[in-house]
Amino acid sequence: MRLNYILLCAVFLFLTGNLPAVMAQKKIRTMIATGQDGSHWWQGGSDAIKMILENSELFTVDILTTPDWDGDMSLFNPDFKKYDLVVINYGGHTWVEKTRKNFEKYVSEGGGVVVVHSSVVPMDDWKEYNEMIGLGAWNQRNEKAGPYVYWQDDRFVYDYSPGWAGYHALQHPFTITHWNPEHPILKGLPVVWDHFKDELYAKLRRPAKNMEILATTYDDPALAGSGRHEPMLWTVNYGKGKVFVTLMGHAGNDPELRYAMECTGFQVTLLRGAEWAATGQVTQEVPKDFPSAGVITLRKDFKAPFHAH
Ligand code: ZN
Repeated sequence: MRLNYILLCAVFLFLTGNLPAVMAQKKIRTMIATGQDGSHWWQGGSDAIKMILENSELFTVDILTTPDWDGDMSLFNPDFKKYDLVVINYGGHTWVEKTRKNFEKYVSEGGGVVVVHSSVVPMDDWKEYNEMIGLGAWNQRNEKAGPYVYWQDDRFVYDYSPGWAGYHALQHPFTITHWNPEHPILKGLPVVWDHFKDELYAKLRRPAKNMEILATTYDDPALAGSGRHEPMLWTVNYGKGKVFVTLMGHAGNDPELRYAMECTGFQVTLLRGAEWAATGQVTQEVPKDFPSAGVITLRKDFKAPFHAH
């Protein structure tokens, strides 16, 4: 009888104490693919991405690392289907065929993907990856990858001239302008906002279909830029899967700094893009600390301040 009473109490505590947590919104199971990058501090960048996602309380995050540059890449073969979302923060060797096929299956069957900054650089010899990321740069990418893509006079321009893809000037703060205010990732955000010091990628080439460019940045020639309005945020549909790409988020190898990732605009668009890629919708409110034209704000501890909502 006494045992039954204790059991009853335990059940009551479980129901009253834990039920709200059980019934709370299911968190988005996320893995970060990382492990090699010749020009970036991938460990620090991946740690920051994990903090940004988990501090929102919408995601649970595992970091899965590849072997080092001279390691056996066949050892990197994650069980992608365990996750709702794969964040790629990676700039290294092309994954082995088994891993590539598993990832293609995962995305084409509806898996979500987020591609951060230098992850548009690697794996140029993997056709399907190039289609997933939409625009790529460096490595062996040239006119065979497709035209350069930029924005001019309210329309996208496709420049088929030959040449290598990928360029950046010295890092500096820059302005983001978005072009699709009804897209769930952007809805409610200021149309123009300033981004903290970052490495502005330019002259990317387009291999892919099913791509929608969400936001651009003018790469000012006075700062040695391309003189073009360069794509900065975009989405790609790949099979049933959704891909969100952000070119923001440089984490420097030397010195080890990730100030670009401290920018509120980077963090909030990453969070919204990640939720959209995983679920097709964005439930997050626009925070009060979001930057605007002429105003840069930072979240140095990678979470929203208490007064943001
Ligand atoms: Zn960079």
